[in-house]
Amino acid sequence: MDFRARQRRVWKRRIGAGTAELPVEALLITHLPDVRYLSGFTGSSGVLVVIDGKATLYTDGRYTVQAKAEAVGTKVVIVTKSAVLTACEALVTAGVTRCGFDAVQTTVASLEAMQKEVPAKLRKKMFEPVGSIVARLREVKDEDEIEIVRRAALVGCGLFDKALGYIRAGMTEVAVAAEMEHAARLAGAERMSFDTIVASGERSALPHGHASLAKLPKRGFCTLDFGVVIDGYCSDMTRTVHIGRALEDELRVYDSVLEAQEAAVAAIRPRVSVGEVDEAARSVLRRAGLDQYFTHSTGHGVGLEIHEQPRLAANQRQLLERGMVVTIEPGVYIPGRFGVRIEDMVLVTATGGEVLTPSVKAWTQL
Ligand code: ZN
Ligand code: ZN
Repeated sequence: MDFRARQRRVWKRRIGAGTAELPVEALLITHLPDVRYLSGFTGSSGVLVVIDGKATLYTDGRYTVQAKAEAVGTKVVIVTKSAVLTACEALVTAGVTRCGFDAVQTTVASLEAMQKEVPAKLRKKMFEPVGSIVARLREVKDEDEIEIVRRAALVGCGLFDKALGYIRAGMTEVAVAAEMEHAARLAGAERMSFDTIVASGERSALPHGHASLAKLPKRGFCTLDFGVVIDGYCSDMTRTVHIGRALEDELRVYDSVLEAQEAAVAAIRPRVSVGEVDEAARSVLRRAGLDQYFTHSTGHGVGLEIHEQPRLAANQRQLLERGMVVTIEPGVYIPGRFGVRIEDMVLVTATGGEVLTPSVKAWTQL
C-alpha cells in the first residue's frame, strides 16, 4: 500500500469541500484506524502528525521494532511519555500555530491536555476542529484494500456455509458462535469483527441479540450476523435460517426482507444517493405492511472498522462512489414473535454493485 500517497491525499483534503483552505499548518491524527490507514502502523498506541503532506509517527518503546517495520516511509519518534502530548510539544517546536484535529474522535479531556502542552499565548487558537477527514478518505477503498476485503468476505461466507451443516435444534446459540469463531481462526482470521450474533426463536426479533445460552428451537428462525478481520479489514454478513417447518407468515416476512434486500443491492451504483438505496429497501417493506418493523438503517461502510461512513439511512444525501464497500442489511423484527435480517457486503463498481458475500440467501430450511 502506498502510505505516502495517502499522507499527501489527506493533506490536500484538509482544504475541505470546495471552501476556503482551512487555516491549519499541521494535522494531528489520533484515531488508531486512521493512524494505521495513513502509515501502516498497527500498534495499540500512537499518533500521527502530518505537515506538508508528510507524516511523523509518535509511539512508545513497546513498538520500536514494529513501528519501523510497518510504518515504512514515515518518520518514527519513540516517546517516553504520552504520544499525543509529545506530538503537541513537537508542533510548538516546529513553529506550528494552528493544528487541525479530529473533533469526532477527540475527547474534551484530551483536548484540554493538548492545550496545556502549548504556551498560553498560542493556546486559544492552536487546535482547530477539522472533522473526520481521514474517515472521508477511507470511504473509497483502493485496489489493495478491495483485494483484502474480498478475502475477508469470502472467509465469512465459508463460516456460514459450514454452519449450515451443523446448526440443529437443541444446540445453544453460544455453541453455534463457538463453532463459527473456531472455524474463523483456523481460516486465518485475526479476530471476529464484532461479537457474533446468534439470535434464535423469539430472540431473532432482537436486532442485536448476542449469542446466549438459549437453545435453538425445534421450529423457528435463527439469525447469524458475524464477520472476520483479515489483515485489519472487517467482513460483515447476516443470514437468517429456519429450523423445522415454517409458518405461512414466517415465509411471507422472509420473502419480503429478501426482496427488500435485493432491491437495495440493485439500486447501488456510483452517484446514487445513500437515501435512495435505503428507500429501495424500505419501500418494499412498506408495500408489504412491514416497514414499522424495520427499525434501523439499511447499511454502512465497512473497512478497517466494522462501521464506517457512509451510513445508508433514510433521507441521507451522500452519493455513493466507485470503490466504496457498504453493507445492505434490511430486517423485520416483530417483538415477541420472530425477526429476519439478510446482509451482504457490496462493492460499488463503475456501473453498479458487486456482492462480495455470495452465500446462499434463498429460503434455507434445516
Ligand atoms: Zn452485520
Ligand atoms: Zn452490518
